[in-house]
Amino acid sequence: MSSRQLRHIALLSGGKDSTALALFMRDEYPDLDLEYVFCDTHKELPETYDYLAKIEAYLGRPIVRLSSGLGDRGFDHHLTLYRGFLPSAQVRWCTRALKIEPFEDYVGDEPARLYVGIRADEHREGYISTKPNIKAVFPFKEHGITKQDVFRILDDSGVGLPDYYEWRTRSGCYFCFFQRKSEWVGLYEEHPDLFELAQTYEKPDEGYTWQNGESLQQMIHPERIKEIKARDAKRKADAAARRRPKTLMEAFTGENDDFEEVDGCLICHL
Ligand code: SF4
Repeated sequence: MSSRQLRHIALLSGGKDSTALALFMRDEYPDLDLEYVFCDTHKELPETYDYLAKIEAYLGRPIVRLSSGLGDRGFDHHLTLYRGFLPSAQVRWCTRALKIEPFEDYVGDEPARLYVGIRADEHREGYISTKPNIKAVFPFKEHGITKQDVFRILDDSGVGLPDYYEWRTRSGCYFCFFQRKSEWVGLYEEHPDLFELAQTYEKPDEGYTWQNGESLQQMIHPERIKEIKARDAKRKADAAARRRPKTLMEAFTGENDDFEEVDGCLICHL
């Protein structure tokens, strides 16, 4: 590759939108020499690795895995540097250390176009590199691709949704602090070993917990689990009641956009 050749890169998070974009780009622009990249924090869910294998099979191309979570780039190393101070929505050091910096190092100084899966029906901003040689582009916005289209793309390809969507709505690290409490309970029930590992990071006596004011140990008290599940069921029912059918077909079939959006970090959760 010439040092000045423009590179085209799709950054996958293991979530639905970045996956649909990778599939969309392959099908719409078959001649584009697209690099598929995943920043592996080594704290991902097993379902994410399975999903990446499925995506690779469909693309017929390897996904470059940046081992951003190993050695002196890894979460545990950075946690030591931060003296055990767990990342949070306010102090999100993990995103920069485990996702943004490894990606920017991978691209280097060559001019690159980064394809970002923000949809036409969204008004949020994605990762936009501060490096002048990396230019973010938004094909879903240009092509008017909405959430329903994303589901269609995933469905038509046979790739579908990652299995973790059955109990959690976001990709990223198993201990991600952006999780809802119901998702923590999901982790406890689906992956008790990972839940236990997440617990080892907490020091409730020193105020270091993943969730403000509540340790994971407190969260898995049977009464508390019941309460969290009941609240989540009510939240979902309220959200469903607020939504109105969008098309005549949906009105008749009852199918609708019953997928909630995730908030959080787009480079991790898109
Ligand atoms: S998924 Fe969550 S914990 Fe992991 S790097 Fe992203 S923001 Fe941090």
